[in-house]
Amino acid sequence: MTDFLPRGKGRFAEEYRPAGWDGMTLKEMLERSEELFSETGRYWGVSRLEMKEDDPIRYEKLFAKLRGGLVNARETAMNVSASPIVQEIGELCFALYTPEGDSVALSTGIIVHVHTMSDAIKFMVRNDYEENPRISPGDIFSNNIPKIGDVHNADVQTFVPIFWEDELIGWAGGVTHVTDIGASTPGNVPVGPITSYEDGLDLTANKIGENDVVFRDHEIRCEMGVRTPMFWKLDERCRIAGCHMVRDAVERTIADDGIDTYKQFIREAIEEGRRSFIEKIKELLIPGKYFAPTFQDIPMKGEKGLPEYAAVDSVSHAPLELTVGAAGEFHISFDGANKWGYHSFNCPPSAMQGAIWVLLTQTMIPNDKVNDGAYFATTHEFPPYTLANPTDKEAATGAAWGYLIPAFTGLIRCISRGCFSRGYVEEVLSSYAMTMNAMQGGGKDQYGNDTGILSFELSCVGGGARGVTDGLDYGAAMWNPEGDMGDMEVWELIIPFLYLGRSVKPSTAGMGKYRGGSGFQSTYCVWKTDDLVMQNAGDGNTFPSPGIYGGYPSASGYRHNVLGANMPERFRKHLPHPTREDDPADSEISRCCDGEHLFDTRTLNYPYRMEHGDIYYSWYRGGGGLGDPLEREVPMIEEDLNGDYILPRYAESVYGVALEKDAEGFWSIDAAATEQRRQEMREERGNRAVPTREFLAAERGKITGGEIDGVIRRMYNQSFELSTRWGKWFKEFWDLPEEFRFQDEE
Ligand code: MN
Repeated sequence: MTDFLPRGKGRFAEEYRPAGWDGMTLKEMLERSEELFSETGRYWGVSRLEMKEDDPIRYEKLFAKLRGGLVNARETAMNVSASPIVQEIGELCFALYTPEGDSVALSTGIIVHVHTMSDAIKFMVRNDYEENPRISPGDIFSNNIPKIGDVHNADVQTFVPIFWEDELIGWAGGVTHVTDIGASTPGNVPVGPITSYEDGLDLTANKIGENDVVFRDHEIRCEMGVRTPMFWKLDERCRIAGCHMVRDAVERTIADDGIDTYKQFIREAIEEGRRSFIEKIKELLIPGKYFAPTFQDIPMKGEKGLPEYAAVDSVSHAPLELTVGAAGEFHISFDGANKWGYHSFNCPPSAMQGAIWVLLTQTMIPNDKVNDGAYFATTHEFPPYTLANPTDKEAATGAAWGYLIPAFTGLIRCISRGCFSRGYVEEVLSSYAMTMNAMQGGGKDQYGNDTGILSFELSCVGGGARGVTDGLDYGAAMWNPEGDMGDMEVWELIIPFLYLGRSVKPSTAGMGKYRGGSGFQSTYCVWKTDDLVMQNAGDGNTFPSPGIYGGYPSASGYRHNVLGANMPERFRKHLPHPTREDDPADSEISRCCDGEHLFDTRTLNYPYRMEHGDIYYSWYRGGGGLGDPLEREVPMIEEDLNGDYILPRYAESVYGVALEKDAEGFWSIDAAATEQRRQEMREERGNRAVPTREFLAAERGKITGGEIDGVIRRMYNQSFELSTRWGKWFKEFWDLPEEFRFQDEE
């Protein structure tokens, strides 16, 4: 950061006593830690895990006390909040950090933040906060800037330093996902900001309180800056209460076990985390290079709310490459990603790191001993100027998830291939579902108050198909393994919508020998507001949840909202109203609603007006499938049909089953006829098949023959410009001349 501050004047001229250990400043501690790590390859140079080896029971008890303190803080503090995002869905977590900002342990919840808060603490340490604005017992700090350390701007973090006598011995950090962040468009994953200056309230790791009391000017600033100040205030109190509970737990632990034991423990715990992560990699994965790119469309062309340069269609390119070394090295690269853009889906490195942790804790290290040790065991490459590292200050980050969520299905597929190769079939997973549609908007609620809306139902989508069975139906979100859809009645209390129905959405899951977990659908009627804008945010023309080993991708999205539907009139006349849309080709919404139907694959929009009586339809995605669909067992398909998990026509065309429906409407399958049909389908496949060399030649013809869509051509040209290495790899693979680039879009 540029240093504009005049030094040596006023209160900051006074000498301060360094808060770090052994007379060091925090910055000196951080630098020493980094030096020792680069010299020895071990955290703080710790060689033998003395406490763990000599007194293992005491070591485990200490860990359990601290971790218990964190989980307890989360479970208690969440009741201070009034926001259903925090209370119902559990979008919060707490973590304990070393003085220089490395995480020691964390609670359950949105564990995506274990390392983002580390980045934010290190930002304060590197920018000499110790000298100005000073770090003292009772201080409170807050941050929400992803370029400092966060995933997206609506994840608001609170930090409380923990002191023992005169030394800073750690930090408690807490994060909640807030209801509205005051961006240029309403909501908490705003799709509308096109530069960072529209991302909303900026808390740039600010001091927001002293002596355990929040500054009044901070509270006023936030009250004026967000659309939902009541939720904001209670969320902030929730985070502060949790941090203070963590501080109490640490102080109790030190009082019981002594400060020297505590200091030794936190470094050993991180070094142990590092070593156990490496052992896991060696145990579970075959060394080598794994490659799994993902693409996601951003259709903004023609959006009237945006300037010309932002109202364009684009596709994001996430060429994830995982390199696993024989000694347990684990390197993730996004080299070849395309350029950041004038939309809010740019994803800074701290957010990318967050994704790595939230996924590794659900795959490689699914235990309570998660800390920054795993961070020290891995390396990464997020190339500058790309969507995976938008270095430009003006790049908006309000919906960084829009790049992150599709991009990291690749990590799951890479890990699964590694596990499968070692023979760990049970660990194999196909792609998780996109946490979409994001039903988002704002304006006035049913009580006439300003509101920002995002239904967190989306934290309950399908899991990827597993190596031995189907994926979890409407299970959780990739970013919060404890996600939940929340009660309809609670959502109706805070958003100006009535639920007309909520049910399973057929054919959302990717088909396969084992199918992905299914998504679900909610049909809403806009209720008692005359000042509302809404948007959809999701995937429409790409398949960001691919299958694995022959399994199909999950369904990509569409929207179906109805303007001028005038539902109250229908209710008065006792006419049928839609409760669901099982099959868009035979739509209940179309049958039951007059008005203007927005029924298309434009699943990402700038917010538009909706009014009392309109229909908003939101459906949530399924996970990718695994294995050849023709190998799916007949009884499983019967269950899918009778549970509304699949539309009959797809059971016939993809699974090759012969269907029968009885008088009561139950489906059954004729096993003998099915076997015959499947045999025919296998033969048809054989007839269609061509040798790989012919297939590749035909595909190459599309590249050189100008058959690639203009949006895709622009995407690849950006990748060529930003990475010579990636471009060389691509061109060598397709046998293209070195100077090749796609023809620019007209
Ligand atoms: Mn969030």
